[in-house]
Amino acid sequence: MTKCSACGGESFYTRRYSGESLCVACFKSSISEKARRTVSKYKMIAPGERVAVAVSGGKDSLSLLRVLTSLYGPRRNAIVAISVDEGVAGYRDEAIDHARSLTEELEVEHITLSYKEMFGFSLDEALNWDEERDVSSCSFCGVFRRRAIDEAAVRAKATVVATAHNLDDYIQTFMMNLMHGDVARLGWMDPSYSDDTFPVRRVKPFMEIYEEEIALYAYQTGVPFQSVSCPYMHEGLRSEVRDYLNMMEANHPGIKNVLLSSSLDVISRYAHSSEKGSVPCSRCGKPSSSGLCNVCRMKAIVEEHVKTPNTSPFSGQV
Ligand code: SF4
Ligand code: ZN
Repeated sequence: MTKCSACGGESFYTRRYSGESLCVACFKSSISEKARRTVSKYKMIAPGERVAVAVSGGKDSLSLLRVLTSLYGPRRNAIVAISVDEGVAGYRDEAIDHARSLTEELEVEHITLSYKEMFGFSLDEALNWDEERDVSSCSFCGVFRRRAIDEAAVRAKATVVATAHNLDDYIQTFMMNLMHGDVARLGWMDPSYSDDTFPVRRVKPFMEIYEEEIALYAYQTGVPFQSVSCPYMHEGLRSEVRDYLNMMEANHPGIKNVLLSSSLDVISRYAHSSEKGSVPCSRCGKPSSSGLCNVCRMKAIVEEHVKTPNTSPFSGQV
């Protein structure tokens, strides 16, 4: 029997990158401890601050909710869960049900905001075009979801939003920014980055934890796994980058940790030089970099192309 490096009990998992073997209980507490250290290292959450946890209903976000609730347990109203319903028939309902059951179990307040309520159309409606789209579904969806999460956090009276991006997500995004030639965006990846013109800060308490370990944590804590994926999902380059990094990690355990640390080093050099200023959007008044925010730009494109313009009630609040 391999022994747990922490308590001497029976180990069930060995971290190839560190050689550490852990039993289930010590593994679970190591995940909470890693997240706690990340939060503290980057001063992600100030004492007394109310945190909105963005819960899509997937295993990562449900795990984040569990971890943050355990860390902030004694003050339950320090945590609120927010979910965005994009309006994708047959997909998001299951995830929101999972989110609802966990928030009930943890006795955490849960706020849901839909695209329909926020923008006047569901994602299904927004993507129903006559012609081929040259912008990916996820590019549209990501822009709308970011705004909806900010709005839900404001309604929840939170000043910080925690998202479940893990180490793999982080280094994939870093590499994709390089591959797209988007070096200016690197500064925004700084874990301590904040822009006072935005209503909430974004933090990623899982950014130093491997995706594989979050999945294991989810499994060990009984977090449900979603049975269907989004029908619009088109990962393109990201899935190639993911496969490449997984292959590198299999051949060189720990290489993802090294890449994270190198990414943070590079990002810190851009964080100070990246443009932090923003100007109000001429349509909605929200912060933008060029006078028209991405949401209003995307809404205009949807409005122009959507199949049934006379039924499209683009009367949402943004
Ligand atoms: Fe939106 Fe893409 Fe996620 Fe589907 S996979 S919910 S389209 S971001
Ligand atoms: Zn706008």
